[in-house]
Amino acid sequence: MQIERNLLQIQQQINQACTRANRSTSDVHIVAVTKAVSIERTVEALQSGLNHLGENRPEGLLNKQEAINKPAVWHYIGSLQTRKVKQVINKIQVLHSLDRLSLADEIQKRAEHTIDCFVQVNVSEEDAKHGIELKNVQTFIESLHEHNRIRVIGLMTMAPNTSNDEVIRSVFKGLKDMQIKISSNHYPHAPCTELSMGMSNDFEIAIEEGATYVRIGTALVGNESEDLT
Ligand SMILES: *Cc1c(COP(=O)(O)O)cnc(C)c1O
Repeated sequence: MQIERNLLQIQQQINQACTRANRSTSDVHIVAVTKAVSIERTVEALQSGLNHLGENRPEGLLNKQEAINKPAVWHYIGSLQTRKVKQVINKIQVLHSLDRLSLADEIQKRAEHTIDCFVQVNVSEEDAKHGIELKNVQTFIESLHEHNRIRVIGLMTMAPNTSNDEVIRSVFKGLKDMQIKISSNHYPHAPCTELSMGMSNDFEIAIEEGATYVRIGTALVGNESEDLT
């Protein structure tokens, strides 16, 4: 019930952001980030109609998939260690964190089907953030053209940790500009039509700036690790 209520609220905010940006709501997909919640709450999310689920640890992903026998689109949203690729790569449909060639090589070696990937970009160039710097994105994507197990469907970023909306907005704009640039090359291996950006605190700005996938955890399914402490 709680998730359904949260979802109604978030859908309303999405609708309003789409109206402001003159976009269609059908172009915005919600990835319910269930990394911090139980199997029970993940089932509740699915029952509320959320079928895109996001996890950021191999253990969390595999435990939930084992327990939940319902169709879902599984997204891996966290930084992925090369040695963990074989555990998860054939269990997911979308990877949001492709950020280095060694990871691409390992995916190429282990994947049994083509994986839809977002290239993670460090737009704000905060040291702590994973991701390719903007100036290296095009070269990186070109270097993937022989990795036939990887299809670059878009770019992903995380906004800097700030309450300054204009700083956040400029990061999302920077990612959108790069997405337009890459997609205009019409690389067969990298259509790059999608933008994964926006979380609980900034998804409305992200949608105004062109997000097609928003990754929402706390505001949608809560955060049980906080509930418990
Ligand atoms: C945890 C996480 C989210 C969701 O964050 P919330 O603030 O809880 O909505 C989105 N994207 C990534 C990469 C995350 O790690």
